[in-house]
Amino acid sequence: MKHYRTIYGLETAKCSWCKRTLNPHPKYSEPIPVKLIEISRNITVTLCLWCFEQEVKEYKECEEDFEETLREKYDAMKLIGLE
Ligand SMILES: [Zn+2]
Repeated sequence: MKHYRTIYGLETAKCSWCKRTLNPHPKYSEPIPVKLIEISRNITVTLCLWCFEQEVKEYKECEEDFEETLREKYDAMKLIGLE
């Protein structure tokens, strides 16, 4: 699995899955730390660290291609109008 850099303080940060824009930790009042994952040539999914961890956990259980799994999820969300 590739290493995805965590980006802190990105003003436009918004998690593609849970839609959070702010760090949920009460101690920090800042944009949510995110990881940008390119799932295809022109689509980048933004995941907060919490959603990312969740995906990594699922990925380790089923060992499918990580980005492929995100792509399927992204497409499904688009279909039901969540993206
Ligand atoms: Zn999230």
